[in-house]
Amino acid sequence: MSGFLFCPLASGSSGNCAYASLNGAGILIDAGLSGIRAEKAIAGVGNAKSLKAIFATHEHIDHICGMGVLSRRYRIPVYATQATWDSFDNRGSIGKVDKFLKKVITPGVPVEISGMEVEAFRIPHDAADPVGYIVRADGKKAVVATDIGHATDEVRRGIADSDALILESNHDLDMLWNGRYPRVLKERINGDKGHLSNDAAGELLACAVTGRLKRVYLGHLSEENNSPLIAYCAAAAALGKLGAKHVSLLVAERHLPSEVVEL
Ligand SMILES: [Zn+2]
Ligand SMILES: [Zn+2]
Repeated sequence: MSGFLFCPLASGSSGNCAYASLNGAGILIDAGLSGIRAEKAIAGVGNAKSLKAIFATHEHIDHICGMGVLSRRYRIPVYATQATWDSFDNRGSIGKVDKFLKKVITPGVPVEISGMEVEAFRIPHDAADPVGYIVRADGKKAVVATDIGHATDEVRRGIADSDALILESNHDLDMLWNGRYPRVLKERINGDKGHLSNDAAGELLACAVTGRLKRVYLGHLSEENNSPLIAYCAAAAALGKLGAKHVSLLVAERHLPSEVVEL
């Protein structure tokens, strides 16, 4: 396959990783899988040796645990905001990365990787300087937007006019509040810097749906406070209300690569 490809390789609290490629040159957004799991997942859609960059959304372990390993093994540059790098360095969370492979990304300032233009946008989440990512190529736009406490104008702008979107649909509000998590954790998840509920994801879809939106992957589902069916039905209902019958809706696989979309 060639062209501009996009898909989640894993999604959820056990590991997040998304893949985009243009004419065979790939990038990862997050690498929250062990190095071995990440290599296997990448082999399903491309080749780890063709990875040109890894972009970090934030320092939580479910987004970074294979990042250092992959960077060292294949000499892949890692991009993160300065505050996220500071957090990596303070905690040693991704191990030692060669200084030539350490790249700082500034939200709103795109970088070019093998013909793809990658731009970070700020998201509200309980991390040092969390971001989502826009990948543009061939006049198309793919977006990763997970770990979002609430919709902000920057998030709305980030997902607007996209052709493919990984959107967080973390929890069902009833399941969360009636579930077994301690109250303080429920409040963190549902808080302004926590995670996006199915309902909130449904509302955000209104900002993303246009005639060009081809594929939505619902991502970062809670294993405890959601189910793929409930999340799917909530988003399908939201798309139905928007008259968006042309949009293909998938729940991202938790442990496996999801079906690739060619843009
Ligand atoms: Zn997080
Ligand atoms: Zn996360």
